[in-house]
Amino acid sequence: MKILEAIGDIREEIKEARRNNKSVGFVPTMGYLHGGHLSLIKKAKEENDLVIVSIFVNPTQFGPGEDFESYPRDLKKDSSLAQSMGADIVFSPSIEEMYPLGCSTYVEIEGDITKKLCGASRSGHFKGVATVVTKLFNIVMPNRAYFGQKDAQQVAVIKRMVKDLHLDVEIVPCPIVREGDGLAMSSRNTYLNEEERRAGTILSKALFEAKERIEEGEINPLKISYFIIETIESEPLCEIDYVEVVHGETLESIERVKGDVLIALAVKIGKTRLIDNLRLEV
Ligand code: AMP
Repeated sequence: MKILEAIGDIREEIKEARRNNKSVGFVPTMGYLHGGHLSLIKKAKEENDLVIVSIFVNPTQFGPGEDFESYPRDLKKDSSLAQSMGADIVFSPSIEEMYPLGCSTYVEIEGDITKKLCGASRSGHFKGVATVVTKLFNIVMPNRAYFGQKDAQQVAVIKRMVKDLHLDVEIVPCPIVREGDGLAMSSRNTYLNEEERRAGTILSKALFEAKERIEEGEINPLKISYFIIETIESEPLCEIDYVEVVHGETLESIERVKGDVLIALAVKIGKTRLIDNLRLEV
C-alpha cells in the first residue's frame, strides 16, 4: 500500500488505473480510523479494483471553538489499519496542498438540507464538507465513493451536490457500525471519560426504543421526538442539541411517520458532541 501526500502523485496513480480499465473506490475520512471507517474500506474493496482512502482533518468544516486542533490524529496506525482492510493507497495531503495560498472558491448547498439539524448549530460546517469533498472528487475522480449513514445529513448533502453539479460518481451509503452496547463508533468517542462513555449509550437506546414505538403504531413525529428527549434527559450528563424526525432524503419536516423517515439527534456529553440516527422505511 502506498501513502501519498501530493495531488500530482494521486493523479498519476489514477491515470495508470484508468489505462488498465480499473474501477476506483474512494473512502474520504478524517482519520483516527475505527470499525465504522473500516466497514467502508471493506465495501469499497469488494466493489472496486483500486481503493483510495483519504485522511485529512479538514479545517474548513470546523467552526470557531470546535475541536480542529485537538481532533485525534495517528497516521501510522491509520495506514496499517487501512492496509489490513485492503486499501491500495492512503492519500494524506497537507492543508497547503488542499487549500493553496489565496484559495477562495467554496461549494455551498442552499436550503433546509444544510440549514437544519447539524447545520443549525454548526454554521458553515456543510460548506466546508461540500468544498473538501468536491476537491477530493476532482483529485481522485472515483467511480464510487463510500460514506457512512452515521453522518446521515452529510450523505443527504453530498447526494444533493452530486446531482446538482452532475458529478460522475456513485455515492454508496453504508450502515452505522456500533459498539457492543449500541454507541455509534466515532473518532470523537475517545474524548469521553468512563462516566461519559457509559452515559453515551442512552442515545442509541432512545433511538431503538423510539423505533419500537413506531413499530407499535405511533405515527406522530412530535410524540416520537418528545419520547426521545425525555429518555435522553433522564441521563444528567446529556445536553440535547437537537432531536428531529424528518424525511430521510430531503430532511424536510414530516407530519406523519410514514415512508422514508430519519430520526436524527445530536447530544453534548461533557465537552463532546455526539450524533446518532436511525433511518426507517415505515
Ligand atoms: P470521519 O472520519 O468522521 O469524517 O468519517 C469518515 C467516514 O466514515 C464518513 O463517511 C462517516 O460517515 C463514516 N463513519 C464514521 N463513523 C461511522 C460509523 N460508526 N459507522 C459507519 N460509518 C461511519
